[in-house]
Amino acid sequence: MEQTAPVAAAEQPLIRKKPLIISGPCSAETEQQTIETCTRLAATGKVDMLRAGIWKPRTKPGLFEGIGTKGLPWLKKAKDLTGLPITVEVATAKHVEDCLAFDVDVLWIGARTTVNPFSVQEVADALRGVDIPVLIKNPINPDLELWMGGVERIAKAGIKNIGLIHRGFSNYGNTEYRNAPMWHLPIEMKRRLPDMPLICDPSHIGGRRDVLQSLAQKSIDLDFDGLMIESHIDPDNAWSDAKQQVTPERLAELLDGLVWRQETTDKQEFLTALEKLRQQINHLDDEILQLISNRMAVAEKIGTYKKENNITILQPNRWSEIIDRGVAKGAKLGLTEDFIHKYLDAIHLESINRQNRVMNG
Ligand code: PEP
Ligand code: MN
Repeated sequence: MEQTAPVAAAEQPLIRKKPLIISGPCSAETEQQTIETCTRLAATGKVDMLRAGIWKPRTKPGLFEGIGTKGLPWLKKAKDLTGLPITVEVATAKHVEDCLAFDVDVLWIGARTTVNPFSVQEVADALRGVDIPVLIKNPINPDLELWMGGVERIAKAGIKNIGLIHRGFSNYGNTEYRNAPMWHLPIEMKRRLPDMPLICDPSHIGGRRDVLQSLAQKSIDLDFDGLMIESHIDPDNAWSDAKQQVTPERLAELLDGLVWRQETTDKQEFLTALEKLRQQINHLDDEILQLISNRMAVAEKIGTYKKENNITILQPNRWSEIIDRGVAKGAKLGLTEDFIHKYLDAIHLESINRQNRVMNG
């Protein structure tokens, strides 16, 4: 009897599994390193897809810029040995062509490429007529429209299976992470593209292995669909991104430590309690907005007096006083200083705009 393939499973696009776990080295360095990393990852039974950088966009010249096309047969071998699909970063038409020649299953566009519409368009043109899933990392700068633009270019080339990877945003100076997560940006992408898989790359956000687990958990709590985490057989001696890579076995431990959550449940008790609390939140939000509106009306009145007396809108001393008061009050109420600053910045800017309208028509 002819065997019928499990159609549903076979037709399920590779990037649709939830949670989708992608791992592998930042860079394919040698055949032995690539194969051993991949086979040890497969042995954990916790990884759905293997990754490796073949062409590496490096910040400065003289660093390891990737092994190049020579590494693709190594990945292909890893795929054949493990039965796991493989994904590679592409930035040019030639990269796409080479990946297709070596049976790469999923392509990804890196953050340094998403930022450049010429490059994304070149990749999109090379993909015309090809049926392969593409994951698009956020651009290095926090520009949602640019990320959306990348998605549109690839979609217009006829690619149906597109996913997003959040890898954080470049910043200047010493900060907690290598790239600022700015979680509100991927959250907004999810709101705009609710059906598109959204994967978190804690390796490039964190830049250090000690924060991978907490970043990964945070993304799960924000209902991300999967993780891309870099791994290496000898992380400290990796040719790129040594500080953020973990061994395949450590990756497995890290994954075991995560609590996967569902978006919803059919437990009635939970749903009823949630609904009640959400009503309270709506009620409080209405009150907060009403108070803010009252506050703006007072600001406008001040604007009228300032106009009559030819006084500047911005009063630096008063602004400092507002911040100091807010931070002190916030601390007593359990609100972080960071939040108070963001909140007051938004309120103050809106007040300035309102006064500007009163004073300058
Ligand atoms: C990578 O995934 O190795 C990489 C280069 O990442 P990003 O594009 O996020 O910098
Ligand atoms: Mn990397």
